[in-house]
Amino acid sequence: DFQVKDRKNRQGFFFVVSGPSGVGKNTLLNYALERVRGIYYLPSITTRPMRPGEAQGFPYFFVSKADFEAMIAQGAFLEWKQIHSGDYYGTHLPTILYALENGYDIITDMDVLGCVEVMERFPENVVPIFIAPPNMEELRQRLAGREKDAGVIAKRLERVAMEMSYAGKYRHVIINDDLERAGRELVKILREYSPE
Ligand code: 5GP
Repeated sequence: DFQVKDRKNRQGFFFVVSGPSGVGKNTLLNYALERVRGIYYLPSITTRPMRPGEAQGFPYFFVSKADFEAMIAQGAFLEWKQIHSGDYYGTHLPTILYALENGYDIITDMDVLGCVEVMERFPENVVPIFIAPPNMEELRQRLAGREKDAGVIAKRLERVAMEMSYAGKYRHVIINDDLERAGRELVKILREYSPE
């Protein structure tokens, strides 16, 4: 397969998408993945409960806390974090290494602290993309629409300011003011690195 051989002549790009909870990252990612070929979504592994509309493997692999901790002990993660109410989120190291070494372009979702770590580890491969809300009120409404527990909403909002303060470290910042417009911007960025 000439395409595979061709791909092996270069390393893969690792698109890391960050942005505060509720900013619409998954919707934007879906929009772009439906339109761009040759970039593979890598689900993170998490212990948080599955939400309505989610499935095993998209947007995450959902595992038990015991299984996640066993994977930490095995060194299975490129990086992992405890976010929000202590749920674990991590990126599977062997999959990343295989993809980058074999020239496959992958995209994943990561918080700002995880992104900064992997930028340092793979400076040639990581393409950091930050998704920002058009304004804070809209983000508050989106979070309230999907989460009923006021305590959980407050915790997530606390993280927002911290995450926003990292936006300047990202090579690309997309304001999610409109799905079509922001989606087209994301598609354009991905195609710059990964021509079909
Ligand atoms: P949510 O539960 O709202 O889907 O995601 C919560 C947060 O976890 C988001 O900020 C998301 O970017 C982050 N996240 C998802 N997967 C990973 C991962 O593998 N590593 C890190 N560090 N953060 C992740």
